[in-house]
Amino acid sequence: MSREFHCPSCDKKLFTYEERTRKYGKLLKECKKCGAQYLDPRYYELAIDGIPEDEFKVTRYSVAILIGALFGWRGIYVSRIYLYTGADPIKWLVPISFILISFIVIIAGLYEIITITTGIKRKKMEKLYEESKARMRDSSYVYTLKKHGYVINEEYDI
Ligand SMILES: [Zn+2]
Repeated sequence: MSREFHCPSCDKKLFTYEERTRKYGKLLKECKKCGAQYLDPRYYELAIDGIPEDEFKVTRYSVAILIGALFGWRGIYVSRIYLYTGADPIKWLVPISFILISFIVIIAGLYEIITITTGIKRKKMEKLYEESKARMRDSSYVYTLKKHGYVINEEYDI
């Protein structure tokens, strides 16, 4: 599901995002229009939420690759029909998009699987975790998070 995010203070539309989007980093952001601070719903503080183990599930990315491959197969299938029967140039947009999407998804999926199996992803996540811990030691940051309604666990509460 795609959602719009508006500044809680001035209501300016700041971005659209997918509900399942998960980014790691500072979740306190500043509105470009009015300068008010807000919690970015796309971001997670790893020190609070913990390292999500599903980030390291190879099956999850294998499924993505499989879906990507299906898109690619469909794109090639339709392209072959168009090759034999002829089609308006505009109609080619569909199979070409399918093949492109497939390509991107497969490459991205393979990249994830490689970084998981080599341990690169785990290292990267641990680095982000340390950065998050450092942020949570900053009491003014924690205070502002709390003020915006973010639930802080006992370890970092002030
Ligand atoms: Zn604003």
